Amino acid sequence: MVIVMAADATPDDIDSIVDLVGAAGGEAFVSRGVSRTIIGLVGDVDQLGTLNLRGKGGVADVVRISVPYKLVSRENHPDRSTVTVRGVPIGPDTMTLIAGPCAVETPDQTLQAALMAKAAGSALLRGGAYKPRTSPYAFQGLGEAGLKILADVREETGLPIVTEVVDAHDVELVASYADMLQVGTRNMQNFALLQAVGSSGRPVLLKRGMNATIEEWLMAAEYIAQRGNLDIVLCERGIRTFETATRNTLDISAVPVAQRLSHLPVIVDPSHSGGKRELVLPLSRAAIAVGADGVIVDVHPHPETALCDGPQALVDGDVRELATLARQLPPLVGRTLTPVPEAAPVR
Ligand code: PEP
Ligand code: MN
Repeated sequence: MVIVMAADATPDDIDSIVDLVGAAGGEAFVSRGVSRTIIGLVGDVDQLGTLNLRGKGGVADVVRISVPYKLVSRENHPDRSTVTVRGVPIGPDTMTLIAGPCAVETPDQTLQAALMAKAAGSALLRGGAYKPRTSPYAFQGLGEAGLKILADVREETGLPIVTEVVDAHDVELVASYADMLQVGTRNMQNFALLQAVGSSGRPVLLKRGMNATIEEWLMAAEYIAQRGNLDIVLCERGIRTFETATRNTLDISAVPVAQRLSHLPVIVDPSHSGGKRELVLPLSRAAIAVGADGVIVDVHPHPETALCDGPQALVDGDVRELATLARQLPPLVGRTLTPVPEAAPVR
């Protein structure tokens, strides 16, 4: 941590900072410049953080040097992690495709979407039974009935399930069906939910808040990790900007930035970023090329009647193109496409 003193800071201001830090068990190194003094602090940053140095006389700025997240940081864990979801890896050696409907609507729609996902080369099935909707009048998801449909479709296709949980009270129930729990953009800073998924025993897909900085996203991951769960996959899904041509702006640079700062895998959701079908394949290419550990996309057998996010869902023709790029692009960036799991034998 570095304290930048104001140009008019007095020698007493500087001495009192040095004394305060010393009393808290830290060490202060004073560098007097021509116009300003800078004080370098060494010690327990969390402890020093409680001193509220920013509010002291003569202090212009307090700059943290070490990162505030620990467990998810790459500082103490230089190797990048692989998270395994019911045998399916998401990590630095592979490119894992995840596809499925935005929302579970009916058994047939979910099965058709899962077959499309498999045809695309998807190793996991996504699908929401609990939908966090902007409007309270919009379809909110089928709840547990939707989870049962997902479990049946997993049985039939062999695809493990990724599904969203929106309320800490539902975590146990959702975890009893799901292979991976999704925390959506609107809940990235729902700290009670983060703690609950941290204790769930299931891997977590943590979407970036649409208004969150990368540091806030990693701090959200830290809440999950702090409960003993390091099976976290980060998902960049677009952020709010001034641009209105797309639903959200895909922050493609967040992928290498987050991968440098954290050992956790980072995947991209081009469907919720662009919000338009015609953008999904170009953004998927960008995601694979930039080094994403996976891509998660919406597919739907009949997007024109979809209850949620039809305009961004891929249809059959797109799925064939997605299959081609998911097979061809990863080897160009030193990865292999995670294989589609075998369906369980019919009993
Ligand atoms: C979703 O994946 O279905 C979803 C709601 O995504 P997001 O939280 O990124 O909007
Ligand atoms: Mn959606």
